[in-house]
Amino acid sequence: SDQVDVAAAAALLAAAADVTLLAHVNPDADALGSAVALGLALRRRGATVRVSFGTPSTVPESLRPLDSAGLFVPAAEVPSRPEFLVALDTGSVDRLGPLGDRVAAAGVSLVVDHHVSNTRYGTHNLVDDRAEATAVIVARLLDALGAEIDEPIARCLYAGIATDTVSFRFAKPETHRLAARLLETGVDGPGLIRNLMDSHPFAWLGMLASVLGAAQLEPDAAQGLGFVHAVVRRSDAVGVRAEEVESVIDVIRSTSEAEVAAVLKETPSGAWTVSLRAVGRLDVRSVAVRFGGGGHRLAAGFTASGTADEVVAGIRAALTEATPAH
Ligand code: 5GP
Ligand code: MN
Ligand code: MN
Repeated sequence: SDQVDVAAAAALLAAAADVTLLAHVNPDADALGSAVALGLALRRRGATVRVSFGTPSTVPESLRPLDSAGLFVPAAEVPSRPEFLVALDTGSVDRLGPLGDRVAAAGVSLVVDHHVSNTRYGTHNLVDDRAEATAVIVARLLDALGAEIDEPIARCLYAGIATDTVSFRFAKPETHRLAARLLETGVDGPGLIRNLMDSHPFAWLGMLASVLGAAQLEPDAAQGLGFVHAVVRRSDAVGVRAEEVESVIDVIRSTSEAEVAAVLKETPSGAWTVSLRAVGRLDVRSVAVRFGGGGHRLAAGFTASGTADEVVAGIRAALTEATPAH
């Protein structure tokens, strides 16, 4: 598990003839955008490339504008022994889901990621936890490769950065400069952002009404700080996309009395995927890690079973011991 710098990673990629680019399960715009952007550049250099992720078996609707060239293949079509595997925006092998076994089987595996919790599971690891998005690291790689960042590539990178910085809220000055460079290629920034995070079918309103109506605020559950939580059951989510369910945390987290927000999302098998967000004083990654998950200081997640009340009780208990963020 070698840490490599951008130049060394670019040199490896420059020599690769067949590249399998993997995003984490249930990819977001950073994971898929990073994979497609790098895939497009490598394909132009003559490599055979494919992009995939463990689940679901198709590209989520809101992310379809990213894969303009159709690089995506379903997990079942990913070679069992990839020549050269690149895992993007994926902190650990288990986040590749059913494609996790391809890492050990690959000739070379390069991990490109920005998670603090990254386990360096590749033969080569390009990990920078100061980067706000994996897409920022991919932009550096493309520059090192001498690849032209044109609109189809820039669109992917812009979407990844916009998503992971919550519409540039957490972007450093140099990342705003990168975003400006991406926009100058002709990227439709407002259109992309609206499509990715500001556009929902009408049924979303009804789902929000029932989920938000049952949300609960515990004013001092988190070391004397507020904790707000909500539950999205399968019965709430009838007629809406996964994207609508994922967006609930962004509403819940805006509660001013709360430092920590959680949304429990019921999976088809009756388990829960949990999204955690913090405003600043507590590190929710330390909470997620206790339940086998991970993420970042201010945004983390995990999967759990049990009743919703049991999962909330577990989070509440973990919050009393959560690491202060500063
Ligand atoms: P979200 O709430 O948007 O699904 O996830 C927030 C962050 O937490 C993501 O950036 C991701 O890194 C991390 N995360 C979410 N779920 C899991 C999980 O099950 N395992 C790990 N290791 N990280 C997760
Ligand atoms: Mn991600
Ligand atoms: Mn990311």
